[in-house]
Amino acid sequence: MKTRTIFAALLLIAAVSQTVRAQKVLIYKTDKTQVELKTSEVDSMVFVPEEPLLTCPDDNHPHAIDLGLPSGTKWACCNVGASTPEGYGGYYAWGETCEKNAYNWDTYAYGSSWDNCVNIGSDIAGTSYDVAHVRMGAPWRMPSTGQQQELINNCSSQWTQQNGVNGMLVTGRNGGQIFLPAAGYRWDDYLDNAGSYGYYWSSSHYRGFVGGAYSMYSSGYWCWDGLGRGFGLSVRAVCP
Ligand SMILES: [Zn+2]
Repeated sequence: MKTRTIFAALLLIAAVSQTVRAQKVLIYKTDKTQVELKTSEVDSMVFVPEEPLLTCPDDNHPHAIDLGLPSGTKWACCNVGASTPEGYGGYYAWGETCEKNAYNWDTYAYGSSWDNCVNIGSDIAGTSYDVAHVRMGAPWRMPSTGQQQELINNCSSQWTQQNGVNGMLVTGRNGGQIFLPAAGYRWDDYLDNAGSYGYYWSSSHYRGFVGGAYSMYSSGYWCWDGLGRGFGLSVRAVCP
């Protein structure tokens, strides 16, 4: 009986070691593909933080640029809808996620005047009204006013040209840099102030009037104010 038990145990150990030998390593990737390796090929596996990107490295946009901000917020290298860092990209009324031919109170989806707008939230970041979130996907989102102010307060800025486009070169204390083109704004069917001002929506509703939202804009210096939600402005996304 005892001999049989020992023999059974030996068989079990042999089976287990057989199973161990037959194992392989499968890595399931977020794009639903998988990588298969033999265990003999794997020495060890550790997760390490990615090297932060201080500038846009290649054409595979969007990149999350580390400007050394206290909150750890990263800023996208390109405007929403742009294919280069200096590209103007799309113009969006606040809370809308598509471009259109004319920007005014007649075409605005969530209101008809400065004082007659639908409440779509005090902060639309990460919602279906957030054009950065909708068009670029998570974790990208529109910046809050706090995140825009953090950028302004913690970075130096220089009015310059990049590939022939006027705009603000923003440099963090860690040397990280993004370029915000002066894309102007759209109202009705015209584009105004392109090349001289950049206007960027925040995700935050303006407390001063129901039809407004906070935006930062620049023409060599920063301004920060509420604008009518019906204007077509640029959006520069952030991620945690
Ligand atoms: Zn990039």
